[in-house]
Amino acid sequence: MTPGTRRVAAGHGRTIAVVPTPVTLDVAVVGSGPNGLAAAVRLARAGLSVEVYEAADEPGGGARSARLFDSDVIHDICSAVHPMAAASPFLRQFDLDFCRTDIAYAHPVDENTTAIAYVDLERTCARLGVDGARWRRFMAPLIERTDEVTEVLLGDFRHLPRPRTAALIATRALAARGNPFAGVEASALLAGVAAHAVGRLPSLVGGGVAVLLGHLAHVNGWPVPRGGSQRIIDTLVAELEAHGGRVHTGARVTDIRQVAHARTVLLDLAPKGVLEIAGPVLPGRYRKALERVRYGPAAAKVDFLVSEGIPWRDKELGRAGTVHLGGTRDQVFAAENAVVAGEIGDEPVVLVAQPMVADPSRGVTGKQPVWAYAHVPQGDSGDVTEVICRRIERFAPGFRDTVLASRAVSGVGFEAYNANYVGGDIAAGAMTLRQVVGRPVLRWEPYRTPLPGVYLCSAATPPGPGVHGMGGVHAAEVVLRCEFGLGGHPEARL
Ligand SMILES: Cc1cc2nc3c(=O)[nH]c(=O)nc-3n(C[C@H](O)[C@H](O)[C@H](O)COP(=O)(O)OP(=O)(O)OC[C@H]3O[C@@H](n4cnc5c(N)ncnc54)[C@H](O)[C@@H]3O)c2cc1C
Repeated sequence: MTPGTRRVAAGHGRTIAVVPTPVTLDVAVVGSGPNGLAAAVRLARAGLSVEVYEAADEPGGGARSARLFDSDVIHDICSAVHPMAAASPFLRQFDLDFCRTDIAYAHPVDENTTAIAYVDLERTCARLGVDGARWRRFMAPLIERTDEVTEVLLGDFRHLPRPRTAALIATRALAARGNPFAGVEASALLAGVAAHAVGRLPSLVGGGVAVLLGHLAHVNGWPVPRGGSQRIIDTLVAELEAHGGRVHTGARVTDIRQVAHARTVLLDLAPKGVLEIAGPVLPGRYRKALERVRYGPAAAKVDFLVSEGIPWRDKELGRAGTVHLGGTRDQVFAAENAVVAGEIGDEPVVLVAQPMVADPSRGVTGKQPVWAYAHVPQGDSGDVTEVICRRIERFAPGFRDTVLASRAVSGVGFEAYNANYVGGDIAAGAMTLRQVVGRPVLRWEPYRTPLPGVYLCSAATPPGPGVHGMGGVHAAEVVLRCEFGLGGHPEARL
């Protein structure tokens, strides 16, 4: 650590003063989500002094777990299902204990038809009938080079290390947009995965999401961490502390000058949060570009405490870690496009996770968690308990009778919980093609801001949302190179 002074632009409105501040720390990270912690770990491992400032009373952002209703039952508050964490080149280095079932995800198309993505590709194809061979043709080349696919799709979208794999991904994403399948099951199955993009469908971005999450289902399944998503955070915090770093909780940063004692600052924040703490000192062009970032539809969630597993009519659904409720491909797309247009119909897309199917440690006999959220319009403040119960009841009559307790969080409720979820957008900026390429602003180094020593590292930067930590890792690499002259060999990077 180099003692000295840092000249910090500070001021109100357009009046900017330069204040010399003693530097006592190499790196301050604002926000302790998976990306903030990944950046902090990478930089602390490089020998820098690192402190993380987190507004909430617990670290973790979108990867916290809590005993909401009963001390025996663990609920994931935001993220629950972790194909990206299991595949992340950064998180794979840790000894994370993932639990999986043989069914990654399932999708009831109507009362009589269920599509199932088994981890076993051949089993999936066998059940898809006429589309079995097409599903294999779509997925097999991606599965064969999954490490390269992951490297590209969890990369910084600036350096394309694998041009042939990138071309394969592009052709598959285009195919997914156009629907390569003939039957309703395979079409609905892939549409349910594309809907994780939470935006207009069909789209190239939805196709890209379907490529990443769809093929990972046949690689590692869609696993859950034993004991809850929080275990990922606990592991990162322990690693940070082992390298001398520290997380300060209950420490909301309201003005970037509060971290002026750090030589470098990384912001694990959505663009709105960056504007709130640094808007007055940002150059006008960059500030305006951040102000132009559009936020996507919201997630509105219900945590249920239930007395038994969901009484699905089709018992196979009870063995799936994740269930997508959205109907046919056309119905999924219509529901998603409606929420983009600001409407919530009677049948929004609902994602249900049954963590105890894979991880029995989440509850006890007679008490278990069910995690479910619906896609709703940006800024929605409604309680979706009734909507979600109705959606589940259609395929699992009697579900309501198993509910012992429930808690709803609306779209705006999510922003109150975590400022990064602007209007309930869990992606920190809508996943449109323009905002995926220029995330959050079109620049060669998307992690760098025009403020000296200030960087972005959240899901608002490439590769975007999800618990993978790679936005943080890419930002940390830029910081090491540009601020500390420590650019490492690519293989030594993580
Ligand atoms: C309901 C829901 C379901 C999801 N499901 C999944 C899933 O199953 N799988 C998956 O991979 N992803 C899922 N996600 C998305 C995932 O949680 C996010 O993409 C991920 O957490 C983003 O990480 P991050 O580090 O960029 O930011 P975040 O995790 O959002 O962390 C940002 C942190 O910064 C803090 N902060 C904000 N402002 C300030 C400030 N001014 N000062 C100090 N601290 C501040 C916040 O409190 C927060 O802790 C889900 C999200 C939600 C909400």
